[in-house]
Amino acid sequence: METVSPHEKVVWTPDSTPAGKRDVWTALKRGLRGRCPRCGEGRLFRAFLKVADHCSVCGLDFTHHRADDLPAYLVIIIVGHIVVPMILWIETDYSPSVPLQLAIYLPFTLIASLLLLQPVKGAVVGVQWALRMHGFDEQNPEK
Ligand SMILES: [Zn+2]
Repeated sequence: METVSPHEKVVWTPDSTPAGKRDVWTALKRGLRGRCPRCGEGRLFRAFLKVADHCSVCGLDFTHHRADDLPAYLVIIIVGHIVVPMILWIETDYSPSVPLQLAIYLPFTLIASLLLLQPVKGAVVGVQWALRMHGFDEQNPEK
């Protein structure tokens, strides 16, 4: 068995993955980290929510993604499922003053949403690539 030293960098090449195999979970996790879904090395974003044109490492064309509003919807669902039960629990058990509650929930909701938007968008783009959605299928490019 070949051993790779931890100091040696494993470089992705188009031939190193079997053709046609795209693992959805791997692509999703790479997208969550803001990395290219194919090689896991190149940066997926060139700004906060601006997806780069292509991967700087493997050259994958990112312009085929159609994340649109899905990341925002998913972030609303995730943050809502954290904030709403938290509000109900605190109100039921402690009922602190309304200004105090607003001083906690509003910044928390805003910060949590901002923190989640980029990873969730990366995951959406990763899944779209893995499922060969839109133009991510080289065999059947979108017109
Ligand atoms: Zn790449």
